[in-house]
Amino acid sequence: MAKFVSHLDDETLRSLVEALNKSGQAVSIYDAGDNLRYANKTYQEIFLGDFEGPFTFSEILRYGARQGVGVRLDDDVEALIARTLPRRRSVARKSFETDFLDGRWFWIEHTVLPNGWVLTVGADITALKHNEKLLRMAHEAALLAARTDPLTGLPNRRHILELLDEALAASEATGACLCVAIIDIDRFKAINDRHGHEAGDAVLGHFAAICRGLVQEQDILGRMGGEEFVLLLPAAGSDAAFGIVERIRKGFTPAHFAAGAIDLPCTFSAGISEAVTGDDRASILRRADRALYAAKSAGRNCTTIGT
Ligand code: GH3
Ligand code: MG
Ligand code: MG
Repeated sequence: MAKFVSHLDDETLRSLVEALNKSGQAVSIYDAGDNLRYANKTYQEIFLGDFEGPFTFSEILRYGARQGVGVRLDDDVEALIARTLPRRRSVARKSFETDFLDGRWFWIEHTVLPNGWVLTVGADITALKHNEKLLRMAHEAALLAARTDPLTGLPNRRHILELLDEALAASEATGACLCVAIIDIDRFKAINDRHGHEAGDAVLGHFAAICRGLVQEQDILGRMGGEEFVLLLPAAGSDAAFGIVERIRKGFTPAHFAAGAIDLPCTFSAGISEAVTGDDRASILRRADRALYAAKSAGRNCTTIGT
């Protein structure tokens, strides 16, 4: 069989150039001195605009920076040139993605020839990047939803338990104090029974808002389920934790909470436990739960420290 020989005659060359222009890809070739020797239509559109030269790699970048066209620069154009020039011919082939000031993204294939000439072929991947962004946003929204209690906006049971694991590990690693409080609204069933489930929901929302407003940024409140909440207090010993929870209890209970027209009496009881060496989520919560039980037995509307 005869071997194929390509003929770069005038017609073939003309057709090749026309095809390169119609392909939508951005094609360029620079010589060893970094003078632009060929640029197809798309490359000219995105890099050259009405630039009148000199058509060197550095001057084209400077023109883009002046005119606000071409690639998006994270830093000063001179810094970019200083960083890029010495590396431009360091490997025979490389590929990377670049975003442009007009919002487009290109995947650039960069090939260095033995004579030092550089060919770049860029494919427009804007639609792909857009889909990637939508997927990432949907993924983040799904993650957030999977971690959040929809009624209060607080971390849900699974998430607050993960945060408790992290807090325990941090406390173990640094030796810093950590307290956990379990907070349970008193006679909540009666609120639901007397005033309806919606009033009960309003009490839960009210508690979350009051509590969040009275703790510091590092303190984390989560909803364990029903009318039971967990508060993580890093850097707090049991006396400090007692003071914080009592402050919340007094803030939550100026005797009544008005949900709509109804005046709702509401209080909570809380049990606190301080992390000790070797604690895991089960052991620390067990002690806090026992302390909560003691607070309920003592008549409710109070805080107890577990031992
Ligand atoms: P105690 O003082 O001993 O804690 O009594 P309590 O009535 O608060 O506790 P109990 O466990 O008997 O009742 C909790 C109630 O919480 C029962 C359940 O129907 C209600 N509940 C659980 N989740 C929700 C919710 O999301 N919204 C509302 N409104 N009620 C809920
Ligand atoms: Mg309760
Ligand atoms: Mg309960």
